[in-house]
Amino acid sequence: MKIAIIGGGPAGLMAAETAVQGGAQVELYDAMASVGRKFLLAGKGGLNLTHSEPPEAFLARYGPRQNKLAPIVRSFGPDAVREWAQQLGVTTFVGTSGRIFPTDLKSAPLLRAWLRRLRKAGVQFHVRHRWRGWDGQGQLQFSTPQGTRSILVDAVVLALGGGSWPKLGSDAAWIPILEERRVPVKPLQPANCGFDVKWTDHFRTKFAGHPVKSVGVVAKTVDDIVIRLRGEFIITDTGVEGGVIYSVSAALRDVIAAKGVATLQLDLAPDREVKRLIKDLSQPRGKRTMATHLERRAGVAGVKAGLLREVLSKEEFADPVRLAAAIKALPLRLVATRPIEEAISTAGGVKFEGLDERLMFRRLPGVFGAGEMLDWEAPTGGYLLTACLATGHAAGVGALTWLNEGRNTSQ
Ligand SMILES: Cc1cc2nc3c(=O)[nH]c(=O)nc-3n(C[C@H](O)[C@H](O)[C@H](O)COP(=O)(O)OP(=O)(O)OC[C@H]3O[C@@H](n4cnc5c(N)ncnc54)[C@H](O)[C@@H]3O)c2cc1C
Repeated sequence: MKIAIIGGGPAGLMAAETAVQGGAQVELYDAMASVGRKFLLAGKGGLNLTHSEPPEAFLARYGPRQNKLAPIVRSFGPDAVREWAQQLGVTTFVGTSGRIFPTDLKSAPLLRAWLRRLRKAGVQFHVRHRWRGWDGQGQLQFSTPQGTRSILVDAVVLALGGGSWPKLGSDAAWIPILEERRVPVKPLQPANCGFDVKWTDHFRTKFAGHPVKSVGVVAKTVDDIVIRLRGEFIITDTGVEGGVIYSVSAALRDVIAAKGVATLQLDLAPDREVKRLIKDLSQPRGKRTMATHLERRAGVAGVKAGLLREVLSKEEFADPVRLAAAIKALPLRLVATRPIEEAISTAGGVKFEGLDERLMFRRLPGVFGAGEMLDWEAPTGGYLLTACLATGHAAGVGALTWLNEGRNTSQ
């Protein structure tokens, strides 16, 4: 039995591994000149493979899709991910936040070892093969440097990724191909993304690139559910991005879509109480500048003081009560999400009602889907890669099971 895997990201590679271990002849196709480019990029900032929190908390990170993903992630969850890395000779460790990383934090050694093992197991790689859909005979169509290739296989796993960082290969060109076959697809949206804030030129010039460390943030969902988190983020030329912003980005994105603007409330001194701040800031400042007074009395300086000046009027800044209130709850107006091209991941994709429980497209017998191209989202923390690997595993098992049941046409 011949299975084609299209897309050589973590989801497709895991589907290939599962299929080849199950005895299939596996051909893996990717549009790019090499596979796993986004996986390699993910290793640049420290590859966060998975998370050590208890299963219920872990699954809750998939929000409205947790029920759909639960059986899949239970079959191949955080322990399986660690075991898989271990078998590839890569040890992992649990960081202080509970996140799990390879000991060297990198993805390149892991990918190299994985590709070696896959090749040894018999997986054939075909790079520079851009999938274009099917021809009238149900053959897969690929554009290659040598021209169009048509291939007939017994089953297919599509693992074509979402739409972020399209220059790494995932450009979402699969959407019209599948929609033409009446596969239901929810439009892609940025997830784990930055936001635009209308900074003044003065603030942008002075603070773009600066990290804002140890802040509390409060965001509201469209249903007015309050999310409170603590962390850090970065000021950019156009707004804000990074850590804690990504964690609340799904809620903020949905509020912007519904209302045109979202407010992110910042607590610039999360370890101090407002009463104490009022008392301290009300002390006479003598000949000291306001900046020195703010730093000495409230521990607020640099970019944090800049944010206060950016949002408050001169009168508010000079009034200890209003200044203290703003330090604890500074409203930042977010006017737009950054484009999908810049996002860490995407929300939307093939809807689960278009798939059966083994991830086969209901409208395309013998064709399975896996990874970020499916309609789920999750914050950063290793949840993305875990779900990609788990759905890749499930799609590989699904294709094997389907073929072993005796169905052998992909269209
Ligand atoms: C900067 C950054 C950092 C990240 N860090 C982390 C992290 O630390 N932890 C974490 O869990 N997640 C992280 N992620 C997210 C994670 O990398 C992705 O969720 C994951 O790579 C998605 O896997 P996938 O296999 O579904 O798709 P992809 O990795 O996007 O792979 C899809 C593949 O399909 C190929 N393809 C697409 N269309 C076609 C076509 N028509 N024909 C042939 N081939 C095609 C592409 O070339 C690509 O190789 C990060 C993402 C980014 C951008």
